Amino acid sequence: MKLYEYEGKEIFARYGIAIPKGRVVSSHSEVPEAIKYVGLPAVVKAQVLVGGRGKAGGVKIVNSVDEAIDRVKSMIGSSLRGAPVRKVLIEEAVDIDRELYLSLTVDRSVRRYIILASREGGVDIEEIAARSPESIVRIHIDPLIGLRDFHVRRLMYELDLPEYGDLYNIVRGLYSIMLDLDADLVEINPLVITREGRLIALDSKITIDDNAYFRHQEFFDKLMSEERDLTEEEIVARKYGFSYVKLDGDIGIIGNGAGLTMATMDLVRHFGGSPANFLDIGGGANRERVKNALSILLNDRNVRAIFINVYGGITRCDEVAIGIVEALKEHGTQKPMVVRLVGTEEEKGRQILEEHGIKFYVSDEEAAKAVVEIARRG
Ligand code: GDP
Ligand code: MN
Repeated sequence: MKLYEYEGKEIFARYGIAIPKGRVVSSHSEVPEAIKYVGLPAVVKAQVLVGGRGKAGGVKIVNSVDEAIDRVKSMIGSSLRGAPVRKVLIEEAVDIDRELYLSLTVDRSVRRYIILASREGGVDIEEIAARSPESIVRIHIDPLIGLRDFHVRRLMYELDLPEYGDLYNIVRGLYSIMLDLDADLVEINPLVITREGRLIALDSKITIDDNAYFRHQEFFDKLMSEERDLTEEEIVARKYGFSYVKLDGDIGIIGNGAGLTMATMDLVRHFGGSPANFLDIGGGANRERVKNALSILLNDRNVRAIFINVYGGITRCDEVAIGIVEALKEHGTQKPMVVRLVGTEEEKGRQILEEHGIKFYVSDEEAAKAVVEIARRG
């Protein structure tokens, strides 16, 4: 899950990373109060979950309350690079000497954390990384050793910073956020050096590993109580604890286990179809779970046909079949469905499905061909 800039900055502040004084508003009527708090000149920043706001006109410096009101009025309700703007962050303007880039993420290829940094941060970081990748500083952190002084000293040297203390606190903060929240990215771009020589996080980007939902339920639920740019299906899937990704095709996919679900998507693609989603119900799913998963796809207007591919190990095929039948009973909508069900209690499962007129396959290839054909006919 991606956090908004203002949410990330609240977390930064809790971890001792300096941020500009700021207030979030969701209406222009709150602007005078906010400006009174942050002072003038101020910066108004559209809160959306896409990057590149600066270049798209989502970050503006204002010199009066009226100007701030005008800016906020034109931002709220508009969209920025396709994302609706519901909130605006108003901050004190900072006098910038240098803009740096600093982030912490996971380098899966070596199973370590990695600090990425650059002396040239700001809105052009992507081009800089593409043009001169060698200018990006990379410092790996072995999670078993953790963050140490030498990491930060090297960073200080590479970024040509004269002072260690502030930088240490910032990196320490990023590292703690990463661990405490199960983040997979914590980014500050730009991290600025002010004219007075202070280090301040002018922007924030934090993404949290959705698989860690169960460890931070309260935190996630609080975030979810805010309007976010998630699809209906993603919200429901998260509530039920499914691993779900919405895609742009028309064949709804349900599998048990990430590997089987991905293989199912590959099969559909192989036969010329286009998956509408990835949905893994996990191992040992009971009828309730199957029913909930299926209901997500039945409610999805983009799904024209459904392919359920379950390999019954711990999962019992009869439970799966009952879940399917119950979901269909509960929903007014019917969609053509292809079920491939093999393994534990396969015979019982087949019987239940056939009693309800649901086509049953043993071969996943045949099932995939069939569902692609159905979706094609529409
Ligand atoms: P992004 O484009 O979505 O990454 O938005 P940022 O929050 O990174 O802002 C983009 C750019 O606006 C920054 O790189 C700065 O150059 C500029 N900017 C943002 N806040 C301030 C500020 O307080 N003072 C000044 N002078 N520039 C700012
Ligand atoms: Mn930025």
